[in-house]
Amino acid sequence: MTTPTNPDARHVLVINAGSSSIKYQLLDVTSGVTQAKGLIERIGEGHGGHAAHTVNGVTHEIDHSAMNHREAFEILRAAFAEHGPDLAQVQLEGVGHRIVHGGTFFDGPALITGGVAEQIRGLIPLAPLHNPHNLTGIRVMQQLFPDLPHVAVFDTAFHTTIPAPAHTYAVPEYWRTEHAVRRYGAHGTSHAYVARRTAELVGRPLDELRIIVLHLGNGASACAVQGGRSVETSMGMTPAEGLVMGTRAGDMDPTLAAHLFRSAGLGVEAYDREVNHASGLLGLCGTNDFREVTERRAAGDADATLAFDVTAHRLRKYVGAYTAVMEGVDVIAFTAGIGEHSPELREAVLARLGHLGVEFDADANESLRGEGPITTSGSKVAAWVVPTNEELEIARQTLAVVDAG
Ligand code: ADP
Repeated sequence: MTTPTNPDARHVLVINAGSSSIKYQLLDVTSGVTQAKGLIERIGEGHGGHAAHTVNGVTHEIDHSAMNHREAFEILRAAFAEHGPDLAQVQLEGVGHRIVHGGTFFDGPALITGGVAEQIRGLIPLAPLHNPHNLTGIRVMQQLFPDLPHVAVFDTAFHTTIPAPAHTYAVPEYWRTEHAVRRYGAHGTSHAYVARRTAELVGRPLDELRIIVLHLGNGASACAVQGGRSVETSMGMTPAEGLVMGTRAGDMDPTLAAHLFRSAGLGVEAYDREVNHASGLLGLCGTNDFREVTERRAAGDADATLAFDVTAHRLRKYVGAYTAVMEGVDVIAFTAGIGEHSPELREAVLARLGHLGVEFDADANESLRGEGPITTSGSKVAAWVVPTNEELEIARQTLAVVDAG
């Protein structure tokens, strides 16, 4: 493990500030090693708050009563001071902030100035649940670390290369011009990291490859990456479109809303809640934990089997569509909780893609732990499991901005 005394080490602190929780990681970008990471949960509840700070594989549990993000970030600073590493000694080079929505303004990471913060604020209508908390994280961390460069890394930035035919919805003009209705995508930091890592793993230049990245976590999205650029992605105006997810429906008939308003008496808020939080795997079989879905399916449970099959069907459909979009595919990469850990779902997606040139390797798929190929060495289209590392990607992008001055 790299130590703070390694002369080549370059440290970045990555912050992911949500409404009631803050995640952070201290990384050495040179080695890619995480020096420390932590989570501060239940901010604002006044009591029963919990935080965990992990250094060298040892997790320090911390009780707290932080009422706001300012107090929560004080806990972060105290955790580093008490359990290490000493932030002054590691010579932090910058702070990278994960920002959920950069709209069409940000096609890459940005040094946070007053103007940039204002633009992020202007995008709150597009990400009302995320951007306000991301901004609070920026403000407080800038107060705590005023001498460091702070960099915004946007989830949407990687997708700004998607061409108009792929990002445009066929809807009335004023929807598109006055209400910013278009596809923005999400998970861009993960798709960017996985695409780059996939090229390294297959030993070919990224700009020659057509890659389909399947990021399958609680939220899930597919991305077609051609020559290192996102050309199509499954999430849309919001992260609700596309694949079947833990609690989100993904693709469905857009007039379902009107139908349910009329026939079930649902209101706008209830509809929004149910389509985002009561649908997907949860709506189909009562759990959004894919491990449980898989276990119940193996035991013959009909609802879990249907949930699994709908998920796999949707994925196969997207793989086919993105192969058409890129006029072929070279590599299919699976990542995030389900992509990395469910050989069952990977098999359900890949085993019947022989017509595309995918020669699935069932044994490799079953025995794989971590990173590796799950197609035969002669397969025309390769499939790999490539664990994502969004924090490292944020840290790298942060350092790139710092280095550019
Ligand atoms: P998030 O989007 O919240 O970051 P993750 O990437 O951690 O989500 O993925 C969470 C999903 O991964 C859950 O559905 C979980 O059940 C699933 N998962 C984690 N481990 C396994 C496993 N060993 N087998 C199948 N699914 C798993």
